[in-house]
Amino acid sequence: MQLFQQIDPRIFVHRVDTRGRICYVNSAWLDFAAENDWPVTAAEVLGQPLMASISDPQLRYLYGLLMARLRDGAGPFRFPYRCDAPDCRRHMQMEMLYCHDAREIEFRSQIRGIQRRTTQDLLDARHPSDQRQIDICSSCKRVDTRHGWMELEDSVLTLRLFDCERLPRTRHCVCPGCASALDRLARSGGSTQRQQP
Ligand SMILES: [Zn+2]
Repeated sequence: MQLFQQIDPRIFVHRVDTRGRICYVNSAWLDFAAENDWPVTAAEVLGQPLMASISDPQLRYLYGLLMARLRDGAGPFRFPYRCDAPDCRRHMQMEMLYCHDAREIEFRSQIRGIQRRTTQDLLDARHPSDQRQIDICSSCKRVDTRHGWMELEDSVLTLRLFDCERLPRTRHCVCPGCASALDRLARSGGSTQRQQP
């Protein structure tokens, strides 16, 4: 795997209003969505409930907890996460903060580093799939295998998913390590940064 740091100064910003609806996205946020095969306009995304974009109930709960804590005066919260593409690992940093005047919660996300890798068909939505299903953590992008949570490349070897005509469908969830880290972060008030598990 080729490893390098890519300097990308963009900050991807979206904000959520008191009703939990997306009320602002900046142009970098829209550009990043389009770069990740989600070409969406501001008109399409504004007014949508943030939670509708989070499929996993536990992750919805954890984001709801962080947002409630922000409204109670805690934070800002900063935590690492991954936003991978089939051909790279993207290490991201999220900052969540409360804008008192507007009573909105702002999400500020930045790329901290990129590692190129062999293209992983498991993350390619166009690759043919079968009835099997595997869980991928939305936060750290590790995969649940019979031998624990593993980096995607390792899980492909462990689960013998290389050179398959059809692959399991992926379901996004949150792994126990990320769930407890986000829960601890919310209850800590946001003064400490957690490490990527
Ligand atoms: Zn995780």
